[in-house]
Amino acid sequence: MTFPPSCQGVFLVFSGAMQCTEVDATPWLCFNPHVEKDTYIALGSNLGDRELNLLRAVAEIGKLPSGKVTALSSFYETSPVGVIDQPPFINAVLRLTTGLAPHDLLNRLQYIETAIFSRKRTICRGARTMDLDLLFYGDEVISDEILTVPHPRMAERRFVLQPLSDIAPDLIHPVLGISIADILETLRSDETVVKI
Ligand code: ADP
Ligand code: MG
Repeated sequence: MTFPPSCQGVFLVFSGAMQCTEVDATPWLCFNPHVEKDTYIALGSNLGDRELNLLRAVAEIGKLPSGKVTALSSFYETSPVGVIDQPPFINAVLRLTTGLAPHDLLNRLQYIETAIFSRKRTICRGARTMDLDLLFYGDEVISDEILTVPHPRMAERRFVLQPLSDIAPDLIHPVLGISIADILETLRSDETVVKI
């Protein structure tokens, strides 16, 4: 059975006169198993045309089914962290309101990284055309071998916290129990993060 593109939540559409007693009078019966969640996704690129890469990624994320991009931060040029012998990044954060399940969303983000941006996973934390990290999935806490949410390293990364603070300063980190603005306020790091 194929569902109509506008299928959200649970609803019935009747053809002809309203007859609720006949099951075969319902051409569409749609169940959306996942309630829409506000999710936050960090974007980063330090290869190729970095700004164009981010804009393309926003567009691709916007095309995912069952959702829409509802906020986008400023873009920041940032110094690399960890593996420092690589070009500077452009970073941003967006909010995606989505009905996709968490692992499905991660799969689709990884598909964008590899299929659209030809990302090669060579050096861990090395240069990349596109990195898409799922920071928050509503206020859910998830930890398995594939996905950890909230993202485990976000609270120590200014290049994530600064753009996130543009669009969600009052959002409470569900594990730390404090706001993004407060995490950013107390962060001590020497990363360079400059709005462009
Ligand atoms: P990094 O972003 O740390 O440089 P990768 O993008 O290569 O590294 O991701 C490494 C792995 O991290 C992925 O295979 C993915 O399954 C896992 N991962 C776990 N939690 C998350 C998350 N919240 N967002 C993105 N990837 C995650
Ligand atoms: Mg990543």
